[in-house]
Amino acid sequence: MHEVLVIGGGPAGLTAGMYCRMRKMSALIVDAGRIGGQLVSLYGDKPVHDWPGYSQVIAGDLARTLSDHATALGVEMVTNRKVVDLERAEDGWVVVARYVLISEDHRHPAQSVVIAIGGGAFEPRKLKVPGEDGLGEDVLTYRMPDRARCAGRRVVVVGGGDSGLESAQSAHEAGAQVTVLQVLDRFTGMETNIDLVNQMEIPRHFGTRVKSLEVADGRILSVIAQTKGAADPLRLECDYLVVNIGAAVNLDAVKRWGVAVEGNLIPVDPHMRTSLEGVFACGDIVAYEGKYKLLLTASSEGCVAANSAYMHVRKPQRLTLGELYT
Ligand SMILES: Cc1cc2nc3c(=O)[nH]c(=O)nc-3n(C[C@H](O)[C@H](O)[C@H](O)COP(=O)(O)OP(=O)(O)OC[C@H]3O[C@@H](n4cnc5c(N)ncnc54)[C@H](O)[C@@H]3O)c2cc1C
Repeated sequence: MHEVLVIGGGPAGLTAGMYCRMRKMSALIVDAGRIGGQLVSLYGDKPVHDWPGYSQVIAGDLARTLSDHATALGVEMVTNRKVVDLERAEDGWVVVARYVLISEDHRHPAQSVVIAIGGGAFEPRKLKVPGEDGLGEDVLTYRMPDRARCAGRRVVVVGGGDSGLESAQSAHEAGAQVTVLQVLDRFTGMETNIDLVNQMEIPRHFGTRVKSLEVADGRILSVIAQTKGAADPLRLECDYLVVNIGAAVNLDAVKRWGVAVEGNLIPVDPHMRTSLEGVFACGDIVAYEGKYKLLLTASSEGCVAANSAYMHVRKPQRLTLGELYT
Protein backbone atom coordinates (compact mmCIF):
# COMPACT_ATOMS: atom_id res chain seq x y z
CA MET A 1 0.00 0.00 0.00
CA HIS A 2 1.24 3.50 -0.82
CA GLU A 3 0.80 6.34 1.59
CA VAL A 4 -0.19 8.67 -1.23
CA LEU A 5 -1.50 7.82 -4.67
CA VAL A 6 -1.45 10.73 -7.09
CA ILE A 7 -3.83 10.57 -10.06
CA GLY A 8 -2.22 12.47 -12.94
CA GLY A 9 1.44 13.20 -13.73
CA GLY A 10 1.25 16.82 -14.91
CA PRO A 11 3.03 19.66 -13.07
CA ALA A 12 0.53 19.49 -10.18
CA GLY A 13 0.83 15.73 -9.70
CA LEU A 14 4.60 15.67 -10.17
CA THR A 15 5.13 18.37 -7.56
CA ALA A 16 2.73 16.60 -5.20
CA GLY A 17 4.79 13.43 -5.67
CA MET A 18 8.05 15.29 -5.01
CA TYR A 19 6.77 16.84 -1.80
CA CYS A 20 5.50 13.45 -0.60
CA ARG A 21 9.05 12.15 -1.00
CA MET A 22 10.50 15.20 0.79
CA ARG A 23 8.33 13.93 3.66
CA LYS A 24 9.63 10.37 3.05
CA MET A 25 6.14 9.12 2.28
CA SER A 26 5.73 6.43 -0.35
CA ALA A 27 4.10 7.94 -3.44
CA LEU A 28 2.84 6.50 -6.70
CA ILE A 29 1.74 8.61 -9.67
CA VAL A 30 -0.70 6.95 -12.06
CA ASP A 31 -1.17 8.68 -15.40
CA ALA A 32 -3.62 7.85 -18.19
CA GLY A 33 -1.05 8.85 -20.79
CA ARG A 34 2.50 10.14 -20.56
CA ILE A 35 4.13 11.88 -17.62
CA GLY A 36 4.25 15.66 -18.11
CA GLY A 37 0.58 16.52 -18.67
CA GLN A 38 -0.28 19.34 -21.05
CA LEU A 39 3.42 20.29 -21.26
CA VAL A 40 3.96 17.23 -23.44
CA SER A 41 0.49 16.35 -24.72
CA LEU A 42 -0.61 19.79 -25.89
CA TYR A 43 2.38 22.06 -26.45
CA GLY A 44 5.67 20.20 -26.21
CA ASP A 45 7.52 22.57 -28.59
CA LYS A 46 6.29 25.82 -27.11
CA PRO A 47 8.57 28.11 -25.13
CA VAL A 48 7.31 28.80 -21.60
CA HIS A 49 8.17 32.27 -20.34
CA ASP A 50 6.67 32.28 -16.86
CA TRP A 51 8.45 29.46 -15.04
CA PRO A 52 10.63 31.16 -12.40
CA GLY A 53 14.35 30.79 -12.94
CA TYR A 54 14.10 30.40 -16.70
CA SER A 55 13.51 33.38 -18.98
CA GLN A 56 12.50 30.74 -21.52
CA VAL A 57 12.20 26.96 -21.38
CA ILE A 58 10.71 24.62 -23.98
CA ALA A 59 7.63 22.92 -22.52
CA GLY A 60 8.84 19.38 -23.29
CA ASP A 61 12.19 20.11 -21.61
CA LEU A 62 10.45 21.52 -18.54
CA ALA A 63 8.33 18.36 -18.32
CA ARG A 64 11.50 16.26 -18.47
CA THR A 65 13.20 18.20 -15.68
CA LEU A 66 10.10 17.88 -13.48
CA SER A 67 9.85 14.16 -14.18
CA ASP A 68 13.61 13.62 -13.60
CA HIS A 69 13.40 15.53 -10.33
CA ALA A 70 10.48 13.39 -9.16
CA THR A 71 12.32 10.21 -10.17
CA ALA A 72 15.47 11.33 -8.35
CA LEU A 73 13.42 11.80 -5.20
CA GLY A 74 12.04 8.28 -5.51
CA VAL A 75 8.51 8.94 -6.76
CA GLU A 76 7.11 5.81 -8.43
CA MET A 77 5.25 6.38 -11.68
CA VAL A 78 3.15 4.28 -14.02
CA THR A 79 1.84 5.46 -17.38
CA ASN A 80 -1.00 4.47 -19.71
CA ARG A 81 -3.21 3.68 -16.73
CA LYS A 82 -6.41 5.66 -16.56
CA VAL A 83 -8.04 5.84 -13.17
CA VAL A 84 -11.63 4.71 -13.58
CA ASP A 85 -12.76 4.29 -9.99
CA LEU A 86 -12.04 5.26 -6.42
CA GLU A 87 -13.29 2.86 -3.74
CA ARG A 88 -13.34 3.41 -0.02
CA ALA A 89 -11.39 0.82 1.96
CA GLU A 90 -10.97 0.18 5.69
CA ASP A 91 -7.56 1.85 5.84
CA GLY A 92 -7.94 4.41 3.06
CA TRP A 93 -8.76 4.01 -0.60
CA VAL A 94 -8.40 1.66 -3.50
CA VAL A 95 -7.70 3.38 -6.80
CA VAL A 96 -8.76 1.32 -9.80
CA ALA A 97 -6.69 2.09 -12.88
CA ARG A 98 -7.30 0.62 -16.33
CA TYR A 99 -4.29 -0.19 -18.49
CA VAL A 100 -5.44 1.62 -21.60
CA LEU A 101 -3.62 -0.63 -24.08
CA ILE A 102 -5.27 -3.90 -23.08
CA SER A 103 -8.13 -2.73 -20.82
CA GLU A 104 -6.76 -4.57 -17.81
CA ASP A 105 -7.65 -3.22 -14.36
CA HIS A 106 -5.08 -2.71 -11.59
CA ARG A 107 -6.09 -2.01 -7.99
CA HIS A 108 -3.80 0.32 -6.06
CA PRO A 109 -4.44 0.59 -2.30
CA ALA A 110 -3.46 3.93 -0.76
CA GLN A 111 -3.91 5.74 2.52
CA SER A 112 -4.64 9.01 0.77
CA VAL A 113 -5.27 10.23 -2.76
CA VAL A 114 -4.33 13.39 -4.64
CA ILE A 115 -6.43 14.10 -7.74
CA ALA A 116 -4.33 16.05 -10.27
CA ILE A 117 -6.06 15.19 -13.54
CA GLY A 118 -5.84 18.75 -14.92
CA GLY A 119 -6.78 19.17 -18.53
CA GLY A 120 -6.60 15.43 -19.10
CA ALA A 121 -10.26 15.17 -18.35
CA PHE A 122 -10.99 17.83 -20.93
CA GLU A 123 -11.97 17.32 -24.55
CA PRO A 124 -10.90 20.06 -26.97
CA ARG A 125 -13.92 21.98 -28.25
CA LYS A 126 -14.64 21.36 -31.93
CA LEU A 127 -15.86 23.79 -34.56
CA LYS A 128 -18.86 21.55 -35.31
CA VAL A 129 -18.90 22.53 -38.98
CA PRO A 130 -19.30 20.46 -42.16
CA GLY A 131 -16.05 18.89 -43.30
CA GLU A 132 -14.43 18.77 -39.86
CA ASP A 133 -14.91 15.12 -38.95
CA GLY A 134 -12.53 12.43 -40.12
CA LEU A 135 -9.51 14.63 -40.85
CA GLY A 136 -6.08 13.44 -39.75
CA GLU A 137 -3.81 15.17 -37.21
CA ASP A 138 -1.52 16.23 -40.07
CA VAL A 139 -4.17 18.60 -41.48
CA LEU A 140 -6.30 19.48 -38.46
CA THR A 141 -5.19 19.78 -34.85
CA TYR A 142 -6.87 20.98 -31.69
CA ARG A 143 -3.48 21.30 -29.95
CA MET A 144 -0.48 23.50 -30.71
CA PRO A 145 0.62 22.99 -34.32
CA ASP A 146 3.43 20.54 -34.98
CA ARG A 147 6.27 22.85 -36.08
CA ALA A 148 7.65 20.19 -38.42
CA ARG A 149 4.40 20.40 -40.38
CA CYS A 150 4.38 24.20 -40.66
CA ALA A 151 7.23 25.29 -42.95
CA GLY A 152 5.96 26.65 -46.26
CA ARG A 153 2.33 25.78 -45.46
CA ARG A 154 -0.76 27.97 -45.19
CA VAL A 155 -1.86 27.67 -41.58
CA VAL A 156 -5.19 28.98 -40.32
CA VAL A 157 -5.46 29.33 -36.54
CA VAL A 158 -8.96 29.58 -35.09
CA GLY A 159 -9.02 31.23 -31.66
CA GLY A 160 -7.68 34.47 -30.25
CA GLY A 161 -6.97 33.46 -26.65
CA ASP A 162 -3.49 32.57 -25.38
CA SER A 163 -3.48 29.11 -26.97
CA GLY A 164 -4.46 30.48 -30.39
CA LEU A 165 -2.00 33.36 -30.18
CA GLU A 166 0.84 31.04 -29.15
CA SER A 167 -0.06 28.59 -31.92
CA ALA A 168 0.05 31.46 -34.41
CA GLN A 169 3.49 32.58 -33.15
CA SER A 170 4.84 29.04 -33.22
CA ALA A 171 3.62 28.35 -36.77
CA HIS A 172 4.94 31.74 -37.95
CA GLU A 173 8.37 31.06 -36.43
CA ALA A 174 8.40 27.64 -38.09
CA GLY A 175 7.97 29.29 -41.49
CA ALA A 176 4.23 29.06 -42.09
CA GLN A 177 2.01 31.66 -43.69
CA VAL A 178 -0.42 32.18 -40.82
CA THR A 179 -3.89 33.74 -40.56
CA VAL A 180 -5.83 34.00 -37.29
CA LEU A 181 -9.62 33.90 -37.12
CA GLN A 182 -11.24 35.22 -33.97
CA VAL A 183 -14.97 35.17 -33.31
CA LEU A 184 -14.79 38.18 -30.97
CA ASP A 185 -13.84 41.71 -32.00
CA ARG A 186 -10.51 41.52 -30.12
CA PHE A 187 -7.89 39.08 -28.88
CA THR A 188 -8.43 37.80 -25.36
CA GLY A 189 -4.92 36.50 -24.56
CA MET A 190 -2.22 38.05 -22.39
CA GLU A 191 -0.72 41.35 -23.50
CA THR A 192 2.68 39.76 -24.16
CA ASN A 193 1.09 37.27 -26.56
CA ILE A 194 -0.94 39.95 -28.33
CA ASP A 195 2.20 42.12 -28.70
CA LEU A 196 4.15 39.24 -30.24
CA VAL A 197 1.42 38.46 -32.78
CA ASN A 198 1.28 42.16 -33.65
CA GLN A 199 5.07 42.36 -34.01
CA MET A 200 4.97 39.35 -36.33
CA GLU A 201 2.28 41.18 -38.33
CA ILE A 202 0.20 38.02 -38.52
CA PRO A 203 -2.98 38.70 -40.51
CA ARG A 204 -6.17 38.33 -38.51
CA HIS A 205 -9.94 38.55 -39.02
CA PHE A 206 -11.99 39.60 -36.01
CA GLY A 207 -15.73 38.97 -35.63
CA THR A 208 -15.30 35.95 -37.86
CA ARG A 209 -16.85 32.52 -37.42
CA VAL A 210 -15.88 29.40 -39.36
CA LYS A 211 -18.86 28.01 -41.29
CA SER A 212 -17.44 25.01 -43.12
CA LEU A 213 -14.30 23.34 -44.42
CA GLU A 214 -13.78 22.54 -48.07
CA VAL A 215 -12.20 19.11 -48.05
CA ALA A 216 -10.95 16.68 -50.71
CA ASP A 217 -9.11 13.36 -50.29
CA GLY A 218 -8.50 13.93 -46.58
CA ARG A 219 -6.93 17.36 -47.14
CA ILE A 220 -8.37 20.80 -46.39
CA LEU A 221 -8.64 23.01 -49.46
CA SER A 222 -10.09 26.07 -47.77
CA VAL A 223 -11.76 27.41 -44.67
CA ILE A 224 -15.06 29.18 -45.29
CA ALA A 225 -15.85 31.79 -42.65
CA GLN A 226 -18.29 34.64 -42.17
CA THR A 227 -17.24 38.02 -40.84
CA LYS A 228 -19.93 39.97 -39.00
CA GLY A 229 -21.43 42.61 -41.27
CA ALA A 230 -19.65 41.37 -44.43
CA ALA A 231 -21.78 40.65 -47.47
CA ASP A 232 -19.81 37.64 -48.69
CA PRO A 233 -18.17 34.76 -46.87
CA LEU A 234 -14.40 34.69 -46.48
CA ARG A 235 -12.55 31.87 -48.25
CA LEU A 236 -9.05 31.14 -46.94
CA GLU A 237 -6.87 28.55 -48.63
CA CYS A 238 -5.45 26.28 -45.96
CA ASP A 239 -3.05 23.33 -45.66
CA TYR A 240 -3.09 22.98 -41.88
CA LEU A 241 -5.91 24.07 -39.59
CA VAL A 242 -5.29 24.74 -35.90
CA VAL A 243 -8.38 25.03 -33.70
CA ASN A 244 -7.77 26.45 -30.22
CA ILE A 245 -11.23 27.44 -29.00
CA GLY A 246 -11.17 25.98 -25.51
CA ALA A 247 -12.14 22.70 -24.01
CA ALA A 248 -15.32 21.00 -23.01
CA VAL A 249 -15.07 19.21 -19.72
CA ASN A 250 -16.34 15.74 -19.00
CA LEU A 251 -16.33 15.08 -15.28
CA ASP A 252 -18.70 12.11 -15.37
CA ALA A 253 -15.97 9.71 -14.24
CA VAL A 254 -14.94 11.92 -11.34
CA LYS A 255 -18.55 12.27 -10.24
CA ARG A 256 -18.74 8.48 -10.04
CA TRP A 257 -15.79 8.53 -7.63
CA GLY A 258 -18.02 10.38 -5.16
CA VAL A 259 -16.04 13.64 -5.07
CA ALA A 260 -18.24 16.74 -4.96
CA VAL A 261 -17.91 18.80 -8.13
CA GLU A 262 -19.15 22.26 -8.92
CA GLY A 263 -19.71 23.02 -12.55
CA ASN A 264 -16.83 21.23 -14.16
CA LEU A 265 -14.30 21.57 -11.38
CA ILE A 266 -13.53 20.13 -7.97
CA PRO A 267 -13.92 22.73 -5.23
CA VAL A 268 -11.14 22.67 -2.64
CA ASP A 269 -10.40 24.52 0.58
CA PRO A 270 -7.06 26.30 1.21
CA HIS A 271 -5.51 22.92 2.19
CA MET A 272 -6.59 21.40 -1.16
CA ARG A 273 -9.07 19.17 0.66
CA THR A 274 -12.00 17.85 -1.37
CA SER A 275 -15.36 16.70 -0.01
CA LEU A 276 -13.88 13.23 0.71
CA GLU A 277 -11.68 12.69 3.74
CA GLY A 278 -8.14 11.82 2.72
CA VAL A 279 -8.71 12.86 -0.87
CA PHE A 280 -7.01 16.06 -2.02
CA ALA A 281 -6.92 17.79 -5.40
CA CYS A 282 -4.68 20.29 -7.17
CA GLY A 283 -3.96 21.89 -10.54
CA ASP A 284 -6.30 22.80 -13.37
CA ILE A 285 -9.07 20.56 -12.06
CA VAL A 286 -9.64 22.54 -8.85
CA ALA A 287 -11.71 25.61 -8.10
CA TYR A 288 -11.29 28.17 -5.36
CA GLU A 289 -11.61 31.92 -5.29
CA GLY A 290 -8.73 33.51 -7.19
CA LYS A 291 -7.64 30.30 -8.97
CA TYR A 292 -5.32 30.69 -11.97
CA LYS A 293 -4.82 27.84 -14.42
CA LEU A 294 -1.05 28.02 -14.70
CA LEU A 295 1.98 25.75 -14.34
CA LEU A 296 3.17 27.68 -11.33
CA THR A 297 -0.12 27.54 -9.45
CA ALA A 298 -0.55 23.85 -10.35
CA SER A 299 2.84 23.09 -8.79
CA SER A 300 2.19 25.27 -5.78
CA GLU A 301 -1.12 23.52 -5.15
CA GLY A 302 0.62 20.15 -5.61
CA CYS A 303 2.94 21.08 -2.76
CA VAL A 304 0.00 22.05 -0.53
CA ALA A 305 -1.94 18.86 -1.40
CA ALA A 306 1.08 16.67 -0.58
CA ASN A 307 1.62 18.33 2.78
CA SER A 308 -2.08 18.02 3.57
CA ALA A 309 -1.86 14.31 2.68
CA TYR A 310 1.12 14.10 5.06
CA MET A 311 -0.96 15.61 7.86
CA HIS A 312 -3.76 13.15 7.09
CA VAL A 313 -1.59 10.02 6.87
CA ARG A 314 1.10 10.62 9.48
CA LYS A 315 -0.96 12.75 11.87
CA PRO A 316 2.05 14.52 13.39
CA GLN A 317 1.42 15.69 16.95
CA ARG A 318 2.86 19.16 16.84
CA LEU A 319 3.74 20.09 13.28
CA THR A 320 1.45 22.35 11.36
CA LEU A 321 1.82 23.31 7.73
CA GLY A 322 2.52 26.89 8.71
CA GLU A 323 5.66 25.73 10.55
CA LEU A 324 7.40 24.41 7.44
CA TYR A 325 10.85 25.99 7.13
CA THR A 326 10.32 28.21 10.16
C1 LIG B 1 -1.60 25.61 -25.35
C2 LIG B 1 -1.35 25.87 -23.89
C3 LIG B 1 -0.28 26.64 -23.50
C4 LIG B 1 -0.04 26.87 -22.15
N1 LIG B 1 1.03 27.64 -21.80
C5 LIG B 1 1.26 27.90 -20.50
C6 LIG B 1 2.37 28.74 -20.11
O1 LIG B 1 3.14 29.21 -20.96
N2 LIG B 1 2.53 28.99 -18.78
C7 LIG B 1 1.70 28.48 -17.81
O2 LIG B 1 1.92 28.74 -16.63
N3 LIG B 1 0.67 27.67 -18.16
C8 LIG B 1 0.41 27.37 -19.47
N4 LIG B 1 -0.63 26.57 -19.81
C9 LIG B 1 -1.48 26.00 -18.73
C10 LIG B 1 -0.76 24.81 -18.03
O3 LIG B 1 -0.29 23.89 -19.01
C11 LIG B 1 -1.71 24.11 -17.08
O4 LIG B 1 -2.19 25.05 -16.14
C12 LIG B 1 -1.01 22.96 -16.35
O5 LIG B 1 -0.55 21.98 -17.25
C13 LIG B 1 -1.94 22.29 -15.34
O6 LIG B 1 -1.25 21.23 -14.76
P1 LIG B 1 -2.02 19.98 -14.12
O7 LIG B 1 -0.97 19.09 -13.56
O8 LIG B 1 -3.12 20.45 -13.27
O9 LIG B 1 -2.73 19.27 -15.36
P2 LIG B 1 -2.21 18.61 -16.71
O10 LIG B 1 -0.97 19.24 -17.18
O11 LIG B 1 -3.39 18.60 -17.60
O12 LIG B 1 -1.87 17.09 -16.29
C14 LIG B 1 -2.90 16.21 -15.92
C15 LIG B 1 -2.46 14.78 -16.11
O13 LIG B 1 -3.47 13.92 -15.60
C16 LIG B 1 -3.63 12.79 -16.43
N5 LIG B 1 -4.98 12.27 -16.26
C17 LIG B 1 -6.16 12.85 -16.60
N6 LIG B 1 -7.18 12.05 -16.28
C18 LIG B 1 -6.65 10.95 -15.71
C19 LIG B 1 -7.19 9.75 -15.17
N7 LIG B 1 -8.50 9.52 -15.11
N8 LIG B 1 -6.34 8.82 -14.69
C20 LIG B 1 -4.99 9.03 -14.72
N9 LIG B 1 -4.43 10.14 -15.22
C21 LIG B 1 -5.25 11.09 -15.70
C22 LIG B 1 -3.35 13.34 -17.83
O14 LIG B 1 -2.93 12.28 -18.69
C23 LIG B 1 -2.25 14.38 -17.58
O15 LIG B 1 -0.96 13.83 -17.75
C24 LIG B 1 -0.90 26.32 -21.15
C25 LIG B 1 -1.98 25.51 -21.54
C26 LIG B 1 -2.21 25.29 -22.89
C27 LIG B 1 -3.38 24.42 -23.29
